Amino acid sequence: MQHLMRAEYEEDRPGAVKTWHMVRGEDVVAMCGRALQAGAKTLSDQEWGRTAEPDCHTCGAMYLREVP
Ligand SMILES: [Zn+2]
Repeated sequence: MQHLMRAEYEEDRPGAVKTWHMVRGEDVVAMCGRALQAGAKTLSDQEWGRTAEPDCHTCGAMYLREVP
């Protein structure tokens, strides 16, 4: 299954990425259960761990279980 990174934005700073979550396909609900904006920026899962902003630890753990 295809995974994508999807951005969670800062509440008081629109457009500023707070945390990167992982979603399955085009889901707007992250693997950790957090609901994200449909229009939120996405990145290839290859960028996990390579962004300046932090990654969601729960999503990371679940992702590693699905993608060896
Ligand atoms: Zn998450």
